Amino acid sequence: MAILKVARMGHPVLRDVAKAVDPAELDSPHFQDFIDSLIETMREYDGVGLAAPQVHVSKRVVVMEVAGNPRYPDAPAAPLRVLVNPEIRFRTEERIRVFEGCLSIPDLRGQVPRCARIELRALDRTGREQRQELEGFPAAVVQHECDHLDGVLFVDRVEDTRTLAFLREFQRYGSDAS
Ligand code: ZN
Repeated sequence: MAILKVARMGHPVLRDVAKAVDPAELDSPHFQDFIDSLIETMREYDGVGLAAPQVHVSKRVVVMEVAGNPRYPDAPAAPLRVLVNPEIRFRTEERIRVFEGCLSIPDLRGQVPRCARIELRALDRTGREQRQELEGFPAAVVQHECDHLDGVLFVDRVEDTRTLAFLREFQRYGSDAS
């Protein structure tokens, strides 16, 4: 297990479409160790989610967890999830607006519209199929992380660039700056 180096915006790996994971690969100690490292790296940098392409591995794997996060102090807690080959289906027309950040775009925040309720299907780290409905902030996190698997960054989805703010200014002035 190791803390992995996070790719920053501009690195081409963040713009690639990641490859599906062969479920047989989940049995290998190497892959399980990679998942542990992904989790460790997310926690080290206070992320609420991390996608494999963000650590230079172009595979469809995402981890997420919200637990007393200093970068998102107001976010409701969400348990640790490991999502392999995740797929999302939108369950409503309703959109929520979330001020997002990204470990690959350090210190920047911007407001992004996200589907308010999604159905999520994925394999867990043992290869078992999981299906769940998510709404609100955790649903937005999943959409952000799954975007990474398709080479999409949150700044691509910011509709009003006046909502962009550096973290310190965001914390000082909040969304009023927009
Ligand atoms: Zn991100």
